[in-house]
Amino acid sequence: MAHEEAIEKAAALLADADGLLVAAGAGIGVDSGLPDFRGNSGFWRAYPPLERLGLAFHEIACPDSFDTDPRLAWGFYGHRLALYRATTPHAGFGILRAIGARMARGSFVFTSNVDGQFQRAGFDREAIVEYHGSIHHLQCTRPCCDAIWPADDVHPDVDMDACRLVSDLPHCPRCGALARPNILMFNDGAWLPQRSEAQMARFQRWRTGLRRPAVIELGAGVDIPSVRRVAESMEVPLIRVNPRAAEVRKGVALEMGALPALSLLAAALEIDPSQSSSLNA
Ligand SMILES: [Zn+2]
Repeated sequence: MAHEEAIEKAAALLADADGLLVAAGAGIGVDSGLPDFRGNSGFWRAYPPLERLGLAFHEIACPDSFDTDPRLAWGFYGHRLALYRATTPHAGFGILRAIGARMARGSFVFTSNVDGQFQRAGFDREAIVEYHGSIHHLQCTRPCCDAIWPADDVHPDVDMDACRLVSDLPHCPRCGALARPNILMFNDGAWLPQRSEAQMARFQRWRTGLRRPAVIELGAGVDIPSVRRVAESMEVPLIRVNPRAAEVRKGVALEMGALPALSLLAAALEIDPSQSSSLNA
C-alpha cells in the first residue's frame, strides 16, 4: 500500500502529542457532499443561474452585491445557509474529535470555512477559530455598530432557478438597513472581525500552553494561504492532507481526500469511527 508508511509516520506524530491543531480549508467539506467553489466551473456547477448571469464567485461574494441586488446576494447566501444547516459532517470530523480527545490539552480548530460544520460535528464552540467569519451569524451592511448576531431567525426561501431570495430580507435590528452574513467577503471593507478576533485570542492562549503539538491540515488551498500559514506557524512536523497539493517541507504528505485519510489514521490509531459519532446535537 503506497500510503502505508506515511500513515504510520502520521499516527506516530499524533500518538506522541499533547494537543491537536486541526487546520481546515474548503476541501474538508467535499466528502460531506458540499460543493467545491474552485474555479468558475466548480462554482457554476453549484449555481447555474449565476453562470447565466456571468457572475464569478468573487463577483457575488462581495459587499457590493448586497447594494446592487440584495435578493440575488441573499439568494446565494440564503441557499448556502440552508445547505450547511442540512448537511451532516462526514465521519472524518468524529475521527478528528476522537484523536484530540486522547490528548491532554485536547484539540483546537482553525478554519477558513464559514459553514459551521465543526460546531455541527460536536467540536467545542470555544475551541474553534472561524478566521473568515460564519454564515450562521449576521451583521449590518452599513455597518451602523459592532453588533454580530446569530442567523437563527433567518429561514431563507430561495428560488434556485434564479438564485433569488423570495422570503423576507433580513435587516439590522438597530438601524433597519439590510443585514448580511458576518463573513469576510472579497473587497470587503465592512466586515466586522470582532467575533473571529475573540476566537483567535482563545486560540493563542491554548497554543502557548502546548509542549508537543500535532497539526493536521486538511483541504487547505494555496490560493488563500491563511490556513497553511497557521498550520506551519506551529513549527512542528505537519500532517498535510490534500488530494492535489500535499507537498510539505517538514512532516507527512497524504495525497488524498479528508475522509479516506482520516479513516486510515483511525485504523492506525485503533479508533473505531462508529464510536466517534460526528453529530452530538
Ligand atoms: Zn445597522
